[in-house]
Amino acid sequence: MQDFKMKIGANWCAASSGAWIESENPYTNKAWARIPRGTAEDARAAIEAAHAAFIGPWRKISPADRGRLLHKLAALMAENAERLAELEVNDTGKLKAEMLGNMRYLPRWYEYYAGLTDKIEGHVTPIDKPGMLHYTQYEPLGVVSCIVPWNSPLLLTTMKLAAALAAGNTAVIKPSEFASTSLIAFAGLFDEAGFPPGVVNVVTGFGSELGETLTTHPLVKRIAFTGGEHGGRAVATNAAKTFKRVSLELGGKSPNIVFADANQTAAVKGVVSGIFAATGQTCMAGSRLIIHSSIHDAFVAKLVDFVRTAKLGDPADPQTNMGPVATRPQLERVMNYIDIAKQEGAKCVTGGKRGEDAECGEGWFVEPTIFTGVRNDMRIAREEVFGPILTVIPFDTDDEAVEIANDTPYGLAAAFWTTSIERAVKMPRRLNAGTVWVNAYRVVSYLAPFGGVKESGIGRENGLEAIKEYLETKSVFVNGNPDVANPFVMG
Ligand code: NAD
Repeated sequence: MQDFKMKIGANWCAASSGAWIESENPYTNKAWARIPRGTAEDARAAIEAAHAAFIGPWRKISPADRGRLLHKLAALMAENAERLAELEVNDTGKLKAEMLGNMRYLPRWYEYYAGLTDKIEGHVTPIDKPGMLHYTQYEPLGVVSCIVPWNSPLLLTTMKLAAALAAGNTAVIKPSEFASTSLIAFAGLFDEAGFPPGVVNVVTGFGSELGETLTTHPLVKRIAFTGGEHGGRAVATNAAKTFKRVSLELGGKSPNIVFADANQTAAVKGVVSGIFAATGQTCMAGSRLIIHSSIHDAFVAKLVDFVRTAKLGDPADPQTNMGPVATRPQLERVMNYIDIAKQEGAKCVTGGKRGEDAECGEGWFVEPTIFTGVRNDMRIAREEVFGPILTVIPFDTDDEAVEIANDTPYGLAAAFWTTSIERAVKMPRRLNAGTVWVNAYRVVSYLAPFGGVKESGIGRENGLEAIKEYLETKSVFVNGNPDVANPFVMG
């Protein structure tokens, strides 16, 4: 059993209460590490350390030097990719091959935003007041609380932190109580890269015990949250009470539409990876297959054949196609939704059980599961399962496909498969989602804005515009002749 400590300012600390939380490995079904069960007092200490760094050493570092530090961090992440991937595999049961790819890609975020640090330029306004100079300047906000879930701790943190730091802010990271170890190891890289202490802090523990402080403390100026609806609502309420800026990346029930003219071989692969990659535990999972009725039966048959070849087992084995579900409560939730779907009258055409292959051992496996005969008003089609369950819903006309796709409280992502150039051009506008993929699924880039509409969230991460989410615009008026009273007073 390994112990991992929190990073507060220059110190590595246990919780002020002395309590620990055991981190369980979903493949071995055994606790493998301990993380501190941080308290509100620890959260306050981390916020104060972040604030001290913000008004002290971090502010004194020029934007270009801030960029150099971020480049060093990116290089260290690449060097440590293997170790960081292993920690996430231990905590989440995600495939090592996928996590390694992930960790090797993440440094790009820091490199990209490092390049922006000295390009955050205000402008001189052609102001309508003779003799006046007006200009804008962008300023960092201060301490940012980054609160992230268990499914992709380092990726989801990076999507916030790279822009936040490049803009000149400091941060307190609160990982999920189920998956904190990679972010603790990551915090150590900031020391190695030469960042001043306190620029990045990590406090671990339960959202119910730390969340209030991290979202209401007066020194926190911005909250960047990724997680579920319940936590998101609590965070948004606290942000409103204290007028903090907030972004929310929440859940999804994303449609994956296959038109009759689609390349079916590509679409089958896209549908399978859209829902079953990461064992269905991605916010953007394509959990609703909306398929033209003329190809329904043949396409489902191909899907089932393909899915049945999936090898469940050790996430570290490169031959494994699907790992376990990441947490015990999640396992119960997924199995419960399988029962709900059956009770609602959906037909389970493959899967529907705990993984029983010899390679599954004691792990928390669920077979990749497909339900046909689903109507879009069933709970299995409306509620986010966050597991390896695909629902199949037929349609006859393009209008009907759009109506079903948009008939959901969520709006994180949508995809469709077609060889029609007309559909490729027209459909993205008609789908209510923050991201639309055409003949693709689950493509993410540090360059491409990501976020949801409707109950999938508020705000965008990644790309050029995300840096503005971490900056305040200041408007400066200068009266060029101090001896002349300002003649332009209004209000
Ligand atoms: P969760 O909401 O339970 O937890 C997320 C984080 O919030 C954890 O660190 C948790 O401790 C913390 N938290 C919980 N309650 C809080 C509170 N009241 N105040 C402050 N913090 C609180 O979510 P989860 O179960 O860890 O993750 C799964 C959810 O995350 C799914 O709904 C999934 O769709 C969503 N998700 C969204 C995206 C996206 O980018 N849109 C990405 C990944 C996951």
